Amino acid sequence: MRYRQARHDEPLIMDLANICEDEPITIKLPEHLARKGGLNIPTLQESEVVRHYTVLSQMNFGVDSGFYPLGSCTMKYNLKISEEIANMVKASMLHPDQPEAMIQGTLQVMHELQEMLCEIGGMDAVTLQPAAGAHGEFTGMLITKAYHKKRNDDQRTEVIMPDSAHGTNPASAAMAGYDVITIPSKDGMVNLEALESALSEKTAAFMLTNPNTLGIFETDAVKIASMVHDAGALMYYDGANFNAIMGKTSPGKMGFDIVHFNLHKTFGTPHGGGGPGAGPVGVVKRLESFLPIPVVEKEGSVFKLRYDRPDTIGKVQGYYGNWGVMLRAYIFIRLHGGDGLRQISERAVLNANYLMKKVEATMDVPYPGLKKHEFVASASCMKDRGIRALHIGKRLLDFGFHSPTVYFPMLVEEALMIEPTENASKATLDAYADTIASVCAEEPDILAGAPYNTSVRQISEKEAAKNLILSYKMMMEKES
Ligand SMILES: *Cc1c(COP(=O)(O)O)cnc(C)c1O
Repeated sequence: MRYRQARHDEPLIMDLANICEDEPITIKLPEHLARKGGLNIPTLQESEVVRHYTVLSQMNFGVDSGFYPLGSCTMKYNLKISEEIANMVKASMLHPDQPEAMIQGTLQVMHELQEMLCEIGGMDAVTLQPAAGAHGEFTGMLITKAYHKKRNDDQRTEVIMPDSAHGTNPASAAMAGYDVITIPSKDGMVNLEALESALSEKTAAFMLTNPNTLGIFETDAVKIASMVHDAGALMYYDGANFNAIMGKTSPGKMGFDIVHFNLHKTFGTPHGGGGPGAGPVGVVKRLESFLPIPVVEKEGSVFKLRYDRPDTIGKVQGYYGNWGVMLRAYIFIRLHGGDGLRQISERAVLNANYLMKKVEATMDVPYPGLKKHEFVASASCMKDRGIRALHIGKRLLDFGFHSPTVYFPMLVEEALMIEPTENASKATLDAYADTIASVCAEEPDILAGAPYNTSVRQISEKEAAKNLILSYKMMMEKES
């Protein structure tokens, strides 16, 4: 053996302990925190531990295990190069209290990401702070409040949205203290007459997703924007469906004032199971001064964190936001470039429409016509046979496919919301449509008991919501 065994107290790779070569960081454990005795944990062979975690990893379903067309969630492939870069020591071991001079490269990535998102969204300024789409919505609602307040326009207490809105929209508006006014859709789109009668001097903002949650592009967006602006209110764009429009159009062009981006959806960063994510918010010029602090700015060739913004709504997140997610989104955008992003949207829309045509052979797809990146099918025609959308979703798991989103949007009965994304090959789309057809032809009893081939069989939805078991230990206690 050429190498001697490393002592337990010496670092194996120097760089892990020295992020900045010029100023090595030494960490000394205070005496009272030092462990006095041995650790009381099971001792296992490394091979047993590896097997344990490998089996655990295989009990789950992810974008790397199979087709995952979970509508609205945009479960696309996450570039492995992004993982490698984001896990590099200089990216992952940064401390938010490091001085600006030490993290110029980090601030540069943040600044360039802000500029790229401005361009994609047709906005003038972006904050990267919010931790998710819903958090971006809440930030946007706080900006809306600050804007009206600054103009002494204090009677604006209502936020309007269509009944196709994602549940986070009303929740965010309500959390910011607004009364939520929901208007019914017409042919799956905003009903202009309903909007006209809902708008008043009490309206603070109108929230819209475009294309909406039915995958339909709201062709009246520009008209809607002028109606809302004439009423003195702001236009909020829920950007969760950006994957359909990148490089084709932008919320700015449609007349929106505030936009959130779901970096974890559109820009290929891993998500699911509650995080991590990032929901940057873009605004037009007249709202820029309200953005959260700090803002990353460039002065000459130096990047700075700026706090001197008198109109700011303050901070919405500890420190600067989810840096790891920002870095992955930056890599995604840089690797694809503008043309690449446009091609992603074109492919996502093509895939959705191709799959829709095939699925139409088995299920109804309400609201006919071309869709954007996703479509909503309905299993209501099979309800009298005892087959429900939920059963179809569960049964698909037995064939290695993830379920579509079910029972959303609420305006379609027995809804299955399918979003293939740009990553699906024609063979995958064909196999998915064929599997849906064969599953729907099965005995209803078989469907109702599915899934059979997964590590966890059908769970009780009620128990999972009311009595969630979060640890192995809790499971053991429950069983004993
Ligand atoms: C996912 C989604 C949101 C919320 O975004 P999160 O990042 O999950 O908080 C809002 N609106 C729509 C249409 C979505 O699909």
